[in-house]
Amino acid sequence: MNVKELVRECVLTIKPYKPGKPIEEVKRELDLKTVYKMASNENALGPSPKAMQAIKKALPGINRYPDGNCFYLKKALAKKYRLRPENIIIGNGSDELFVLAMLAFIEPGDEVIVAEPTFLMYKLDAQLFEARVVSVPLKAFRYDLAAMKAKITSRTKLVFIANPDNPTGSYVTRKEVEQFLKDLPDNVIVIFDEAYFEYVEACDYGDCLRYLNRGNVIVCRTFSKAYGLCGLRVGWAAGSREIIAYMNQVRDPFNVNQLAQVAAEAALTDTRHVEKSRRLVSDGRKYIYAELKAMDLFFVPSVTNFILINIGPESAAVYEKLLRRGIIVREMTAWGLPNFLRVTIGTKKENQLFVKALKTILFSKKGA
Ligand SMILES: *Cc1c(COP(=O)(O)O)cnc(C)c1O
Repeated sequence: MNVKELVRECVLTIKPYKPGKPIEEVKRELDLKTVYKMASNENALGPSPKAMQAIKKALPGINRYPDGNCFYLKKALAKKYRLRPENIIIGNGSDELFVLAMLAFIEPGDEVIVAEPTFLMYKLDAQLFEARVVSVPLKAFRYDLAAMKAKITSRTKLVFIANPDNPTGSYVTRKEVEQFLKDLPDNVIVIFDEAYFEYVEACDYGDCLRYLNRGNVIVCRTFSKAYGLCGLRVGWAAGSREIIAYMNQVRDPFNVNQLAQVAAEAALTDTRHVEKSRRLVSDGRKYIYAELKAMDLFFVPSVTNFILINIGPESAAVYEKLLRRGIIVREMTAWGLPNFLRVTIGTKKENQLFVKALKTILFSKKGA
């Protein structure tokens, strides 16, 4: 049997997403006792303690199917962000929400506009739906919203805007977003992916929930980053009642597990943990910036918990050397940025270890 003849053509052409290396895998492969992961923009503080408590309490109930409607989580989100539950859908990570939007809205041949480079899942998902992916280059490591708008045609269905962006850590301003949304053709749905929303402190950044009443906007948020729950997979999207209803129509009935639901609901009330995470990131970012400047390395200013750094042509080798020292960062070749590494801001200790290792590798004979 020739399985290759049976598989869908778009599956053959897709380059699968390569996640950051898991700690256990690096320990095993390199025979290391201690490994630090600064590769996947996870929360170095750990999960919200309130979330862990909630999970313990909910454990005896996992013989039952979860609430397919995520009633309490939606209610809590609606209250916090002054939305109605019918304007909210919960996903198995925001990754699932992108797929649900495509399941609901994409026909083969429809155009999906993405930036290049940006978060890779938009393009991968779109390819699986046999959409035509229209890529628009970044300008000085920022989304070029005017150029993206210029690419809209009558076949365009979705435009993805990561704000803040990953892997650059840059953002588009409220003014730029408003310019983009002004007189937008009404065959287009814009997905604002605000995965790092909680970390942003820039005052000209505007969250996009305010645009929901336009009817053509979906805002995705996640519990994976600042809330520290990426291992549980919970994200949420807000949109018009109609958009959300169609996305609900195509999702699995039990797409979000019960532990994830109660943990997310509890994490939402844990403002102390989010505040602590924000401070850890802001302090760590300042420290790493100063050290990178001292090393004369170019980096993209970030409003998130990661930094994109130009290491130069030795970038891949530096990545390997960091790995052998037990520090996992992200190598950026898959994003078309072979000279770059992306490092997630960690604990104070992790940041110091990273800086020290990088210095040794780049500037001392011992680093060779
Ligand atoms: C991490 C990340 C996500 C994925 O979030 P999940 O909720 O864990 O699926 C989405 N978008 C961007 C830009 C991210 O960096």
